[in-house]
Amino acid sequence: MLVRAVLLCLALPVFLSRGEVLSGEIIKLSYADESEALHLRAQDERLYTLRLSKESHFDLVETGVHAQVRGTVLSTRKLRDDDQEEIVQVQELIVDSGLARQKRHTWEAFTSVTYAIQMCNAEFGHDFERLKNNTVWLNDYLMKCTFGKYGAESVEANIVIGPIPLPCALGCTASDAYSWARSAQDYASKNLSVDVSSYKYHMFMLSPYHACNWAGLGTIGCTSKGCFSWFLGKYGYDIGVVMHELGHNFGLLHSTTSNNEYGDGSCIMGMAFEGSYRCYNAPQTLNLGAAHPKHVVTSVQGRVKFLLPIHMSTNASSVVIRMWSSRGYNYVLSYRAPISYDSYLHEEYHNKVFVHKVRGNGKTVLLAYMDIGGSYTLPKIGAVVCFDGVLEEKAHVSLYKGDDCSVNAEL
Ligand SMILES: [Zn+2]
Repeated sequence: MLVRAVLLCLALPVFLSRGEVLSGEIIKLSYADESEALHLRAQDERLYTLRLSKESHFDLVETGVHAQVRGTVLSTRKLRDDDQEEIVQVQELIVDSGLARQKRHTWEAFTSVTYAIQMCNAEFGHDFERLKNNTVWLNDYLMKCTFGKYGAESVEANIVIGPIPLPCALGCTASDAYSWARSAQDYASKNLSVDVSSYKYHMFMLSPYHACNWAGLGTIGCTSKGCFSWFLGKYGYDIGVVMHELGHNFGLLHSTTSNNEYGDGSCIMGMAFEGSYRCYNAPQTLNLGAAHPKHVVTSVQGRVKFLLPIHMSTNASSVVIRMWSSRGYNYVLSYRAPISYDSYLHEEYHNKVFVHKVRGNGKTVLLAYMDIGGSYTLPKIGAVVCFDGVLEEKAHVSLYKGDDCSVNAEL
């Protein structure tokens, strides 16, 4: 034991040399001595146990992901034969979840019925050709914005039926909406021979109805009977509004700013106004399970640099910052540019780096969007996000424990 103690003393402290970064695959997670540890197999096959400070927590880290580590070697443990394992106190950990995303990405069939409803003898005339074209368009919009997570297997998976006459109603409460849905589904089964139970999403296109003050309405999540959304008059023909209500069906809440429930204009879960197509913002795309962060940052020492691809160019483009000091919410960094359905993004959001906060319930708050040279200090963490430049369509962004982006700023 004495020999071992001496060896330990000699080995302490060994810094991974300046600038040297361990890099490899996380092969195991473990919990010992009330602390969490990650086990990493480096590119040269050596094994490392990564000790984490209590400031870190690792919900997004899983086996199979690629990680980069800066830290201090605390000790070396002999395993068997020539094998040994270094125990490293982690100062900085950056996880690339590019490998994990392939395992976690699950396709979900988008099957839908669009009900063209004639309420209360209203004169509003439905345009069936347009509704049918819209379902094809909507499917393309969904597929692109969710990187193929939601999509229809065939054109027949999305049907348009009607006209369905419904009697006059007096109010516009949730129970009124459900009763219109039930009546429309009964009518479809009895009079149109449609088995509505074999479709998951049910979109009710209603006549304009003065008792309702909304354009669209959607259930947050689904029931065993399916997922429901309702649209009044012309809004049912607006794919942006439909995409917003479907987002609620997928479980999304609104994309807000600190003082406006619908204030994040960069996301279709913000205000959906006429013709305002754009994709879900980066944190909502993560919430959907349609994308995975490119990096997960759990602590910051010095300056950490990232390359962010354009949000809609790949399903692993954002940086998630999770730290003990910001428990209860995460920050997400992303780079938006007008490609795919984001080509409809308002000009003020083009080529900007976005900083979002995501609360535990999934609601996103837009904190800042910046031009090159811009910076934003993350509350509670005391680190500043610097937008250092763009090279080959990727944003160079750094995270710096300080407040001055001009320190060490070269790309
Ligand atoms: Zn909404």
